[in-house]
Amino acid sequence: MEDNYENLVSTLKDLGKNYNFEKIQQAYEYAASLHEGQFRKSGEKYICHPISVACIVAEFGLDTDSICAALLHDTLEDCADKTDVETIKRLFGQQVYELVEGLTKLVQIQFVDKEDMHMESLRKMFLAMAKDVRVIFIKLADRIHNMRTLAAQPPEKQRRIALETMHVYAPLAHRLGMQRVKQELENLSLSYLDPDGFKAVNDDIEKRYGQNKDFIEHTKESILNSMNDYHIKCDIEGRVKSVYSIYRKMFMQKKTFDEIYDFYAVRLIVDTELECYTALGVIHELYNTIPGRFKDYISIPKANNYRSLHTTVIGKDGVPFEVQIRTWEMHHVAEFGIAAHWKYKSGDKGGLDIDQKLEWITKLVENESSTADPEDFIDALKIDIFSDETFVFTPSGDVITLPQDSNCIDFAYHIHSAVGNKMIGAKVNGVIVPIDRELHNGEIVEIITSQASKGPSRDWLKIAKTSDAKAKIRQWFKKEKRDDNIIAGREEILSELKKYGKVTQSDMDQVVEAVATRNGMTCADDMYNMIGYGGISLSKIAIKLKDEFESLIASREPEVVPEITLQTNAKASKNNGGVIVDGQDGCSVKFAKCCNPLPGDAIVGFITKGFGISVHKCDCQNVLKSVEENKDRFVSVEWAHGYTSSKNDSYDAMLKIYAEDRISMLADISMALADMKVSITQVFTQKHGPDDMIINIAVSCKNVEHLNAIISRLRGIRGVFNIQRGNS
Ligand code: MN
Repeated sequence: MEDNYENLVSTLKDLGKNYNFEKIQQAYEYAASLHEGQFRKSGEKYICHPISVACIVAEFGLDTDSICAALLHDTLEDCADKTDVETIKRLFGQQVYELVEGLTKLVQIQFVDKEDMHMESLRKMFLAMAKDVRVIFIKLADRIHNMRTLAAQPPEKQRRIALETMHVYAPLAHRLGMQRVKQELENLSLSYLDPDGFKAVNDDIEKRYGQNKDFIEHTKESILNSMNDYHIKCDIEGRVKSVYSIYRKMFMQKKTFDEIYDFYAVRLIVDTELECYTALGVIHELYNTIPGRFKDYISIPKANNYRSLHTTVIGKDGVPFEVQIRTWEMHHVAEFGIAAHWKYKSGDKGGLDIDQKLEWITKLVENESSTADPEDFIDALKIDIFSDETFVFTPSGDVITLPQDSNCIDFAYHIHSAVGNKMIGAKVNGVIVPIDRELHNGEIVEIITSQASKGPSRDWLKIAKTSDAKAKIRQWFKKEKRDDNIIAGREEILSELKKYGKVTQSDMDQVVEAVATRNGMTCADDMYNMIGYGGISLSKIAIKLKDEFESLIASREPEVVPEITLQTNAKASKNNGGVIVDGQDGCSVKFAKCCNPLPGDAIVGFITKGFGISVHKCDCQNVLKSVEENKDRFVSVEWAHGYTSSKNDSYDAMLKIYAEDRISMLADISMALADMKVSITQVFTQKHGPDDMIINIAVSCKNVEHLNAIISRLRGIRGVFNIQRGNS
């Protein structure tokens, strides 16, 4: 029995491009030998199908490798017993092998008729899986040939294939700007999906054209004459509307035939872009225009790179018709879309690499960003799905779209937070996998849940890739596990604080309490909880913890009892604690908690942000530390006259008493203080060696003189070795 290989050869010869005929012949012979003994439903040899597909691929303008891949496209699927990927790679090279493999993978996608959103995901997945645009072109060619020969199939299969074509392949062809392919697929699909509707519209069209047989002919003639007058060489086509496009307008947009302005249409194809505009001028001179129907897709191309001028005018007897004007190059792109563009860009050199492909998509998007129609723009963006999304299936066949690199945890939480929270395992394509297993296009993912599950693990926060999953995991910890969160939060903060020095639990509580209240929380536990479930990240508060911790530590460093310098030359002021700020009367003043200056201490002022002047002792650790950096913010201050010796206000002073650790030590100290009418505002003790202790005590006193009196009285107590002025 004969096949149609000679057709392919003559098609290729007519196209007159630089094909590698030897390689094509080899691919043909190999495919023919593999398909030997297989027949199509129509009765012809199976190899006729791949040859026809190769012809269509060649007409798209694709290269030798694409033609070889078209010839081989069904071999891996249908002749698995006779060949394999390695053989294809060895015989025809990497490129052909990748194309054939890509095509074989696409066969595995099952399209089920679902709602629109679902179909959109399927289309995207289709594109994503194809990786190389040429795979899509070959797949479309395959589909065109299958649709052309669909009559041989049983009715249910006809319907399924036609639906799939209408919902997936025709929109894809449109995306890729392949107008002719799109129209052919739509018309063929419609003829199977709604044979009666198709026939009715088709008959109507025939009737209209029949009644108005002369209209198109007459119009074409007068246009051609005028173009001649202006010396514009042009081709003119008369019938350009497809049955499906009319069907859609009538049945979906509920328009009548008379409301379809562009039922009649002519298309002018000229040589140059300039001639397009000249021809438009001629048309507008010849006919009256319908306002608002002129579109310049030349200066602003459509998302799919479609370029043409469109206008609608009133012809003979008041019949409106549409005129499309374009150059041959634009025509080719309109018919074959991205295929033509692709061929044009790549010459005959072969495939594009990913970068070039993306660059080309970027260009598509850039073109569109200057147009006004946001829907078209979104359409253009939708083509760019090669890099950032993964499409997987649920066991029931729904498509789930996830960001690239997502894993089973992301999938589970995408389905529902309850599924994620009860997850104990996962299966990919029926095989149990680790839950952090990354997902790939086209995989079927099943989440194994158990009511006995104790919920997600904290590690999942690090494993999950999507913010959606992370948020849901955090939510769970926030709600279910406050106690655990607090423990986890304490551990995290403790290890952070340890970076800055030795830290005790009570130091930490003090530091965290301060940071928590400053951040609007009521207690330290709120902060631990929040860190524990990840509501706030440790890095966000690390600096605050560090600052707080360091000032706590700094305040404990032993200080030498300062020498007393009496200030004598100032006048008293109100409401400033007896401090006079250099040249700035009425300044708000507060005493720094880190060093608690007393009247008589050498002091310095620090301009805070928003709290006035903070007064420190000159030898305060914090002052010494920041004086270099913040020189400008220090001001000179002094005690007002009288404050250093009289009994105006009382100030807190901190004392660190090194003493023997004996039972009545604290009692002796408090009695001595009570005797001097000095009140204790704060006290706590700590062990210091096996037999000694340190008593940190805050006493309220008048000034340095008063404090010195207190110190010398306390020194007299038995077992007190040393007393330092210092902080808590
Ligand atoms: Mn096929």
